[in-house]
Amino acid sequence: MRKLLPFTLALSFFISLSIRAPSAAIANSAQNNSTDAAERLAQRALSTTAMIDDLQELCDRIGGRPTGSQTCERAVDWGAARFRAAGIQNVKVETYTVPSLWLPVAAEGACVSPEPFPIRVVATPYSPSTPQNRPLVTRLVDAGDGTAQDFARLGARARGAIALVHAPEMKTLDDLFAEYFKNLPMLAAARKAHVAALLLQSSRPRGLLYRHPMSVVGKTIDIPVGLVSREHASRLARLAVRGNVTVRLNLINRIGSAYQARNVIAEIRGSERPDEIVLIGAHLDSWELGTGAQDNGVNSATVIDIARGIKQLGLTPRRTIRFALFTGEEQGMFGSAGYVKSHAAELDRHVAMVTYDIGSGRTNGFFLNGREELRRVVEEAMGAVPSLRLTQNPIDGIDGTDNYDFLLSGVPNLVANQDGAPYLPDYHAESDVFDMVDQTEAKRNAAIASVLVWGLAERAERPAPRQTRAEVERLLRETHLDDQMKAFGQWDDWVKRRRGVNR
Ligand SMILES: [Zn+2]
Repeated sequence: MRKLLPFTLALSFFISLSIRAPSAAIANSAQNNSTDAAERLAQRALSTTAMIDDLQELCDRIGGRPTGSQTCERAVDWGAARFRAAGIQNVKVETYTVPSLWLPVAAEGACVSPEPFPIRVVATPYSPSTPQNRPLVTRLVDAGDGTAQDFARLGARARGAIALVHAPEMKTLDDLFAEYFKNLPMLAAARKAHVAALLLQSSRPRGLLYRHPMSVVGKTIDIPVGLVSREHASRLARLAVRGNVTVRLNLINRIGSAYQARNVIAEIRGSERPDEIVLIGAHLDSWELGTGAQDNGVNSATVIDIARGIKQLGLTPRRTIRFALFTGEEQGMFGSAGYVKSHAAELDRHVAMVTYDIGSGRTNGFFLNGREELRRVVEEAMGAVPSLRLTQNPIDGIDGTDNYDFLLSGVPNLVANQDGAPYLPDYHAESDVFDMVDQTEAKRNAAIASVLVWGLAERAERPAPRQTRAEVERLLRETHLDDQMKAFGQWDDWVKRRRGVNR
């Protein structure tokens, strides 16, 4: 994701209304009603709603909810119940397959010598337990930045050792992506050097730990990998400069084969074009060190609140609006992939997909995911409520959240372009909790999302056509998403047509 330019306000919509000729005003009466509805939806979302209470309940009463856990199952039932309580008649829970299970059980570590002290450590998702589920006690080697050169420099000393890999402090979305880009080459080099385990330095200061997945395609790797607090990693590295360091590492994870998980799908039927679908989604699952407030509870609560708002105001959209709470996102976007698979026959009728996944960061616009023709569509929809008008609509393609399989399937898709703060510092961390959510921005985001989705459902023309495989292939090249997919180990699934449009 790219850095953002300052937000600028557009000219007032009311100026264009006042100069419109009477005949045009009559011709546009349907649009005006739609504009009124958008304004009412926005005002309602900004007023006191149940959204923040929903978020609090999800975070504090259910909590962190990794897919495959009982907590995630409870969250799915909760989500379905909240849609029903909002008056949505058509609520379904749909199953799909996650290719493998990974859940954390226990993690513990210590420096044994030259000085005994405990170290703060967590397991990284998709890494195995330490051998025989027992503590590994061995010498530490400093593998620098964890590049191929770093491991080559260690030579035979790396064999059978626990290799410590340093990390720069994460401050931007680009830094966060860089942390993911590093994984596959680092694991390949570590494997070649025959290390017994890896200890990755946390990229967040002050002892903060977080889940940093080693795979985004649900593949368990073959080296135990712990993430150690930034300060403990530095202390171990300083000690290693002066002599031999022995550490103990005990990681126990629950690893299993393919299993069924569930998404929540709710729907408000369209009045004129019920067969055409505008979908808004957010992932309901989260990692469990915190309670999944920014990532992505707040946006799950938003999706529920948009549905509630439309019902409360007694509005009926022209097109059908579908609301999705996906799970399996943190494991590799498997919930949205499962949706795309099981709804393949009606994907032609999905006219647009919108997703939110950057917590309560201020929405500056929408990523167009390589589709320039969506710029005008977003501007027109948001033009209905001038006070919310957005101008930062980058052409960039996003791989890393639930738009991904829609993009690969040629469905026009938008991802909210939000400020990295306050989402980033707590990303996947112990501190991703209710208190950190910016409630004012969250409500403004809900207003924006309501207006956008309403505009997409009401507009006369479809936002953009569905793309063919050749067109998606060209888009992947133009946006350089192909490079990211290769770096993340996702390219094979596209090439072998396991994911994405097939014609
Ligand atoms: Zn997320």
